[in-house]
Amino acid sequence: MKRTREQIKAALLQKAEAEIERLLDWEAQTDKPTLTQMENAVLASRKAVGEEMVQALLSGQEERDRLDPPACPGCGQPTQDKGYQAHQVETRVGSVQIQRRYYYCGHCQAGFFPPG
Ligand SMILES: [Zn+2]
Repeated sequence: MKRTREQIKAALLQKAEAEIERLLDWEAQTDKPTLTQMENAVLASRKAVGEEMVQALLSGQEERDRLDPPACPGCGQPTQDKGYQAHQVETRVGSVQIQRRYYYCGHCQAGFFPPG
């Protein structure tokens, strides 16, 4: 189920708005915050919004990656498509969970996520 551009935009705006609300609540409840505390609060919100944005872009790419199963990188035999599996990835804007296609080689009895 591919999300439309408008659906993705709405989800990102909702995340950004929630983070802005969280930041303003924090400011209202914090007595005389220091500049460092403000920086930390803003960085946490920025990280949360950034992760959501990367997640949205990655999801869009996954929907385009409907390829034939690749050959096994170990032995060159055909592999079985085992569907999507969750994969945690560290990015420069934070940690995101992506769904990547996973393939299994019966000859090597090993599975792998293709590069990319
Ligand atoms: Zn193999």
